[in-house]
Amino acid sequence: MSGDALVKAALAARDRAHAPYSRFHVGCAVESLNGEVAVGANMENACYRLGICAEQSALAAAQQAFGLENVARLVVVGGFADAGEDIGEAVMPCGGCRQAIAEAAQLSGRNITVTCHDHRGRNAVSTDIASLLPAAFSL
Ligand SMILES: [Zn+2]
Repeated sequence: MSGDALVKAALAARDRAHAPYSRFHVGCAVESLNGEVAVGANMENACYRLGICAEQSALAAAQQAFGLENVARLVVVGGFADAGEDIGEAVMPCGGCRQAIAEAAQLSGRNITVTCHDHRGRNAVSTDIASLLPAAFSL
């Protein structure tokens, strides 16, 4: 899948975020080595600590669709729901999500590309999990 198509998939996932408390909507698209795509969005809960991030939501879907060991890259988009057309900062994965991405990288033995964008899929910051989380925890 092209990079633009993956960004569109992440944006569509973001549109289905459940984030009524923070109003910070994030979408993530995960692409496999074979071009399959799984998506997720952040899911908040009135019991705040039960919320999950878009990246972990998408990785859970990826595990079911094609397995974490086949993850090639992630695209993340995000920002406040009312940001409109304002240019925003690229949303970077939180520390917990970096660890979750690192788990997929450890399973595959490959580095994983991570491209982050603002709420409209702009301002790309392209990096990889080894750069985002050097010396990741593993068992
Ligand atoms: Zn996170």
